[in-house]
Amino acid sequence: MNLLDSSIVPEHAHDIKDEARKFAREHIEPNAQEYFQAGEYPHEILEAGQEANLVAQDIPEEWGGRGLDLPQLLALTEEFYRADAGIALTLQLASFGCEITYEYGTDEQCEEYIRPVAEGDQISGLAVSEPETGSDLAGMQTRAEKDGDEYVINGEKYWIGNGVEADWITLYARTGDDEDNRYGNHSMFIVPTDAEGYEAEHIPEKMAMRASKQAHITFDDCRIPEENLIGHEGAGFMMLADFFNHGRVIVSGHGLGIAAAAIEEAWEFSHDREEFGRTINEFQAVQHGLADMLIDFESARSLTWRACENVANNDHAGYWAALAKTTATEAAVDVSEQGMQFHGGRSVLDERRIARVYRDARIPVIYEGANEVQRNLIYGQAP
Ligand SMILES: Cc1cc2nc3c(=O)[nH]c(=O)nc-3n(C[C@H](O)[C@H](O)[C@H](O)COP(=O)(O)OP(=O)(O)OC[C@H]3O[C@@H](n4cnc5c(N)ncnc54)[C@H](O)[C@@H]3O)c2cc1C
Repeated sequence: MNLLDSSIVPEHAHDIKDEARKFAREHIEPNAQEYFQAGEYPHEILEAGQEANLVAQDIPEEWGGRGLDLPQLLALTEEFYRADAGIALTLQLASFGCEITYEYGTDEQCEEYIRPVAEGDQISGLAVSEPETGSDLAGMQTRAEKDGDEYVINGEKYWIGNGVEADWITLYARTGDDEDNRYGNHSMFIVPTDAEGYEAEHIPEKMAMRASKQAHITFDDCRIPEENLIGHEGAGFMMLADFFNHGRVIVSGHGLGIAAAAIEEAWEFSHDREEFGRTINEFQAVQHGLADMLIDFESARSLTWRACENVANNDHAGYWAALAKTTATEAAVDVSEQGMQFHGGRSVLDERRIARVYRDARIPVIYEGANEVQRNLIYGQAP
C-alpha cells in the first residue's frame, strides 16, 4: 500500500519527501522495534539524520539550514512517523523551539545558537509545560527575574524533550503578574543546559514513543545573561501561539504517519490470517472496517494538507491548525484501535508493529495542546 502518495503534496515538496522516505526506510523502520523495546535514545539514527541533512532543516539558509517550509516539513514528517513515531520524535525535537529564535531573535543569537543546530553540532529543546500546569499556557509559574544585566530563573518544567540531552533550550518563563493582561506575562529565553542552577533528569519510562526522552528540569537561581531574552519581555505567549500554529500542522503529520502504519499493518494481517476456511478480509464486516479506516485517513489527510496551505499563508492559521491537529491525531487513535481488533489476540504481543503504533497514537492527541483545547480554539476562531 502506498497511503502517503505524493499527489496531494505540492510539487516543491516532492524531493524532500523522497529523501525522507528513503531515509525512513533505511534508518528508522528497520530499527523501530529494537529502540521501542529498549527505550534507548537513538543517537546513531539522529547522527545519520543530521548527516543526511534531514534534521533541523527548517532553519533558514543564512543560519546553515535548508530553509524547508511548512509543506516540505509536513511531507517529511508523514514519512518519518509512518516508519516510527518514537525515533521520528527524537529527530524532530533536535531543533524544537529554534523557530522562535530565528523568527524573533537577534543575528548574534542565531549565529551562536541556531547555526550549530542546523549544522548538526548541537541539539535544542523547548520548555513550556510544568509539573502543575500543562494546558494553561498563561498560567505557567516558572519565573525569570531581572537582576542587573542577568535574569535569574527559578521553577520547574516537565515533559521537556531533550531536557537532559540538549545543549540549550528555549524557555517560556513568567516575567510579569498583570492579572488584567494574562497573555502579556511571559517571555522567551535561551538557556544553555550547562548553566549553573539547571538540573534535568529523565521522567519515568513511557508506554509509547519510547525512543524519545523527556525530562523534568529544575531551575534553582539559574542565571543567564540579559542578551538571552528572545525578542522583548511579555511577548512569550504571542510567540508561542504562532509557533504552535506551525507545530500543530506538523503534529497532524504525526497522526497521519501513525495512521498509515496502522492501516498497512491491518491490511496485511487481514489478507493473511485465515479463519473459517478463508482469510478474514473476505468477511464483509472486516472489509467495512478497513474501508472506514481509509475514510478516516483520507479525510484527515485532505484536511491536513488544506490546513497546511492556509497556515503557511497565515490565513486563519489558529483555526486550521487546530482542525487538522484534532482530526489527524484522532484518526490515528481510531484506526489503530480498529487495527488492533483485526489482529485478534496477536494484537497485544509486544513484538507486533500494531501494538507499538496503537500505543504511540495516544500521544499526539495530548501534546502540542490536548485536543479539548484544540476544540476550544476551533469554536473560538470559527470563521
Ligand atoms: C511525549 C510527550 C512529549 C512532550 N514534549 C514536550 C516538550 O518538549 N515541551 C513541552 O513544553 N511540553 C511537552 N509535552 C507536554 C504536553 O504539551 C502536555 O502534556 C500537554 O500540553 C497537556 O498538558 P498536561 O499533560 O499538563 O495536561 P493537563 O493540562 O493537566 O490536562 C489534562 C486533561 O484535562 C483536560 N483539559 C485540560 N484543559 C482543558 C480545557 N481547557 N477544556 C477541556 N478539557 C481540558 C484534557 O482532557 C486534558 O488532556 C510533552 C508531552 C508528552 C506526552
